[in-house]
Amino acid sequence: ENVIAQIRSSSVIDSVTQCVTELVLNSLDAKATAVAIRVNLATFRIQVVDNGRGISRANLESVGLRYMTTKCHSLSDFKKRIKFYGFKGEALASVSNVSRRVCITTREHECEDTYEKTIQKEESTVEVTKMRPSGGTTVTVEGFLSNLPVRQQCIKNNEFESIRRSVESLVIIHPRVSFTLRNELGGKVLLASVKCPDIASSFKTIHPNVDENEFDFFRVTKSETSVEGLIHKELGENKRLQYIYVNKRPINCPKIQQLINSHFKNAKTRGNDRKKTSPIFVMHIKCPYSDVDISLESTKTVVFFKKFDIVKQCIDK
Ligand code: ADP
Ligand code: MG
Repeated sequence: ENVIAQIRSSSVIDSVTQCVTELVLNSLDAKATAVAIRVNLATFRIQVVDNGRGISRANLESVGLRYMTTKCHSLSDFKKRIKFYGFKGEALASVSNVSRRVCITTREHECEDTYEKTIQKEESTVEVTKMRPSGGTTVTVEGFLSNLPVRQQCIKNNEFESIRRSVESLVIIHPRVSFTLRNELGGKVLLASVKCPDIASSFKTIHPNVDENEFDFFRVTKSETSVEGLIHKELGENKRLQYIYVNKRPINCPKIQQLINSHFKNAKTRGNDRKKTSPIFVMHIKCPYSDVDISLESTKTVVFFKKFDIVKQCIDK
């Protein structure tokens, strides 16, 4: 199909972080307000439970087939897409390809039935199962990367750092969603956030030591692009506390970090603490999708702005 040809890419999901992130993005696309993540790095079992809108039986039949998405039906949809993270219908197919088994249990809120789909070795079944207490979807991946044992061995316990970092950036930009991240080995909760009113509060949940009275809020709009967020008056030492998003998608953008850091170096001159040159900030760039190219390189999301001058003008202000 034409649409498929135009959006096809060869993305492979080969890290636990990437798998977790894709599942969580699906929950967010389904308008979930609560997302619970469990990861077991001994068995490579990954589970994401959400209270989102669920999947209809008809759609469930085809979920997990490559290029099956319910989020984008035509090329014009694809170009306009603004509301969803996912649009290619690749994540679940890629995940099932490299896993022993993927199980999706789902119930639409207004629906009386719960369906369960199991995908194993390119075969899949859908059946009615014990009813979920409420609407939502649970995706359980078992034996992730079991066909790539060498890749599995490369994944160490510090993978949790990168999983947490990825979930944290979603926590910040989705203040109205509560998240939990649990290491299933030992049951330790690595991250727990509750619903909060705004990004300043969700940032605070993740970084409790940062003084929120020191936040400055900004919002600049230029034609169809807007840049908004918060910046901390104090300088941090650490680029880790810099979060950049395009249309709510966390991205890596050293160019923007440099831009901001150099502004600060110039503005908040000498003295004090030399190590501190990186302000803490959260920046959300909203722009038409046609203005950005997003490439998802393993866990890093790299963005190419076709109109970086506009973004830059907004930042310079
Ligand atoms: P994409 O997100 O690009 O559409 P995916 O492979 O990630 O592709 O998911 C395929 C489809 O499965 C989605 O379009 C959506 O309809 C459905 N889906 C997956 N996860 C969920 C979820 N947690 N809640 C509701 N629907 C889901
Ligand atoms: Mg998706």
